[in-house]
Amino acid sequence: MKALIWKDLHKIELVEKPRPSIQNSRDAIVKVTLSSICTSDLHIINGAVPNAIKGTTLGHEFVGEIVELGDAVKNLSVGDRVSANCETFCGECYFCKHGFINNCSNGGWKLGCSIDGCQAEYVRVPFADTGLTKIPVSLSYEEALFVGDILSSGYFGAELCCVKEGDTVAVIGCGPVGICTMQCAKAMGAQKIIGIDTNQIRLDLVKAKGYADVVINPNTQNTVSVVNEITGNKGADCVVEAAGGKDTFQTAWQIARANAVVAIVAMYEENQVLPLPQMYGKNLIFKTGGVDAVHCAKLLKMIENNDISTNVLISKYFNFKDIEKAYEYFANKNNNCLKVALKYD
Ligand SMILES: [Zn+2]
Ligand SMILES: [Zn+2]
Repeated sequence: MKALIWKDLHKIELVEKPRPSIQNSRDAIVKVTLSSICTSDLHIINGAVPNAIKGTTLGHEFVGEIVELGDAVKNLSVGDRVSANCETFCGECYFCKHGFINNCSNGGWKLGCSIDGCQAEYVRVPFADTGLTKIPVSLSYEEALFVGDILSSGYFGAELCCVKEGDTVAVIGCGPVGICTMQCAKAMGAQKIIGIDTNQIRLDLVKAKGYADVVINPNTQNTVSVVNEITGNKGADCVVEAAGGKDTFQTAWQIARANAVVAIVAMYEENQVLPLPQMYGKNLIFKTGGVDAVHCAKLLKMIENNDISTNVLISKYFNFKDIEKAYEYFANKNNNCLKVALKYD
């Protein structure tokens, strides 16, 4: 079968690999029907992911059909349409039992990083009984594609902030994660969403789609003043920092109201400064995190109920055989691409 591997620094290649087979009793073999490229894949190619192994098939965001199952998997059947979790987790260790699956002692982000991932025709999924979720019959593969990674990350941001009925939620970064956070925050009862981004095209999109009620472009507006104006000088009840830009961390705590939760889901390339003297008395709660993608079934239900939708994220479709072109397209900032979807067949 064809598989896209991380060949070397800044190099990928579509190669021939044997079709994977069951190795452990909790494995599943999934025929991939739709997959995507994640910014984390670009981080691997650029050498920024220490655990990544050269030669590994990339990709961890996908949906597909189960074609083979290990003996110990009792909650799934061959032929099931499934959405995959970006994290591999055992469900049994201390961290899994407390919902912190990102820190699973026996798993973590492995697929497409240290073991062969989904940018191939077939993929072996370890701990399939915890990592795969059946897609409801009423939903298409397209509708379920982002559940286990981008949508889970967006939900995680809103969840970390403990969004309550009536809250004003500021989301820094109107990319795929930010768009998902906005929708999840609304579904959790947020009254007003403020979208912040320097990319005007993304701001226009989130405004037009109604994901954000107000948008702010820090290139042309003073973010702190506008947020103060909107909130009666109080600040936002919840802040989700999903941008990871040069000064977005500083913006995040500055626009938060006293005693707010500031959730940092962005990945930074540099250390950030906590200016404690300036913050003193603001009594902020900071939460940081890599997604605990434990709500996949719930998120599928929310999509089914039309509470949220990720369809808007698919900027362009490519055939899997053209995946190298898809990488180029996704990585080129001029294309303003949110996500690409790779079709098989
Ligand atoms: Zn990802
Ligand atoms: Zn575990």
